[in-house]
Amino acid sequence: MKNLLLSLFSPSDLKRLEPHLKPARFEQHHVLFETDEQIGHVYFPTSAVVSLVVTLSNGDMIEAAMIGNDGVVGASAALDGKIAPCRGIIQLGGEIVVCDIDVLKSAALQSPKLLALLIRHEQAVYAQAQQSAACFATHRVEARLCRWLLRARDLSGTDKLTFTQEYLAEMLGVRRTSVTAVAHMLQEAGLIKYARGKIQIVNAKELQDSACECYASVNAHYRKLFGAGANNTRGVKGSAAQAG
Ligand SMILES: [Zn+2]
Repeated sequence: MKNLLLSLFSPSDLKRLEPHLKPARFEQHHVLFETDEQIGHVYFPTSAVVSLVVTLSNGDMIEAAMIGNDGVVGASAALDGKIAPCRGIIQLGGEIVVCDIDVLKSAALQSPKLLALLIRHEQAVYAQAQQSAACFATHRVEARLCRWLLRARDLSGTDKLTFTQEYLAEMLGVRRTSVTAVAHMLQEAGLIKYARGKIQIVNAKELQDSACECYASVNAHYRKLFGAGANNTRGVKGSAAQAG
């Protein structure tokens, strides 16, 4: 299984769900669901990366959590109420295994093991959102951008990321000029290469040294909840997460 959560399902849970798991491809910036919207599906990313973002009345949005092949999007809504607590947007396009929300809920109600796994995952997302709040309030833009790029790299399995500076600024809740200055600095230091909306991570180890502690903290949360395998789903050879 290319998704950590699916790989942790018991054979009987997987057998029950398998006929309802549909692979699909989603493009960058596609909105899976809006805040307070009733949702009909849950999403297990295999190569796509999803941002859970908080939207503000002026149209701004700030990322609370990033989910990729180490998780599921929409599981809390599946377990109760079906209402999305935030916007889910495709950050990096790719494949996602989609499941009907009622099917997952029904399977979880029949299997305490599956229910416990989904609840544990929601704890990991909650911990990530808490970390993001602390990060936003206390850490420098440079360190936050490094953290953000590393997690995007781990979840997408590639060193080449397609992001505009506007998008990065939006996710980090900072001005575009701040992102431009930091990206320039990281490029000068030989950590990344940046050109026309494409970022290449050149030195993941040094990027990790420059990232705030939140990168390692979030990885540690996932390892605590899902075991050492939590970092093994990541596809990049010599992952910074594994190195740390
Ligand atoms: Zn931080």
